[in-house]
Amino acid sequence: SREVHLVSRPVGVPSPADFTIVERAVPAPEPGEVVVRNDWMSVDPSMRARMRDVPSYLPPFALGAPLDGAAIGTVVESRSPGLRAGDVVWHHSGWRDFAVVRAEDTHRVDTAGVRGSDYLGVLGMPGLTAYLALSEFAPVRPGDVVFVSAAAGAVGVVAARVARHLGAATVIGSAGGPEKARRLVERLGYDRAIDYKAGPVGPALRAAAPDGIDVYLDNVGGDQLEAALDALRTGGRVAVCGSVSQANAEEPVPGPANLALITRKRLSLRGFIVLDHLDRWPGWIALARGWLQDGSFDPPTTVVDGLENAVGALLGLLSGANVGKMLVRLNQA
Ligand code: NDP
Repeated sequence: SREVHLVSRPVGVPSPADFTIVERAVPAPEPGEVVVRNDWMSVDPSMRARMRDVPSYLPPFALGAPLDGAAIGTVVESRSPGLRAGDVVWHHSGWRDFAVVRAEDTHRVDTAGVRGSDYLGVLGMPGLTAYLALSEFAPVRPGDVVFVSAAAGAVGVVAARVARHLGAATVIGSAGGPEKARRLVERLGYDRAIDYKAGPVGPALRAAAPDGIDVYLDNVGGDQLEAALDALRTGGRVAVCGSVSQANAEEPVPGPANLALITRKRLSLRGFIVLDHLDRWPGWIALARGWLQDGSFDPPTTVVDGLENAVGALLGLLSGANVGKMLVRLNQA
């Protein structure tokens, strides 16, 4: 079985030389464990932070050990009464061909009428993140103007649909480059789009939302957060979800210059980690499965084939190579 290992801690933008692929025999499962053949692996921006040797909400990656992350796989051998060979499970030991995991650390998924890979994107953590952000942490109310950054990414492609479901009147998204911006409006359910690479975001957001915004789903931090604080109306809400614009920064990045607006405009900014809210996952799956199965929602994914190309997928994700969820496919299953 092959595993992707981190061999050096990148400084700034990671390079392929920071990783290697190692061959290892698959250990025999202990009682209570299962052997899973990984079919799909999730590629996540949060992996960049874990390459640093500093504590975060997930532990740092160890050097000379496999990376990990969400994966969908098929049980090929079971020493647990709760799982059988052939069961499809979500677990967190991706970045390897085969994983030996405790049955209690897996979630069996129901693939009837949906794709297994959906459980890494729309039905998985990115989808749940978009849903919690806009229903709970920065709740959208009917008639709201909502702004979403990294709108063409895994969280972003679900956020537009969630915002609409919650009654948003106008949904504005930002993404990098004219092609992605066009796609936000033509294919991804956004009313207006901002290409943040084309110029300063502040004026572009003012033009897109002349009367201001009510809710901001912040996936990127930095100047887009500053622009959103300027544009928010009194009582506005921000779900502070991630700061991918600072993923490769080696020094702390200065914050927005306009934080005084939080007081003046009675804003609320709330951070959250989706993994703290897995009790909400089944409810989200039920809602979003309905949208997939009635054909009203078909969010895109970007698929890279083969474990040997997984590092390229990760480096690509950090530079915007994806539309929708970035996935690595290991098997056609
Ligand atoms: P995406 O699919 O959105 O991929 C990352 C995207 O970031 C890229 O496609 C790229 O899009 C964009 N990007 C890269 N560099 C920059 C930059 N300098 N400025 C602005 N955008 C940039 O990833 P996810 O949907 O999985 O995650 C989105 C955010 O949500 C991340 O910050 C992630 O850490 C966070 N997250 C937080 C969770 C939580 O529990 N709080 C859970 C899941 C995700 P483009 O081409 O448009 O630049």
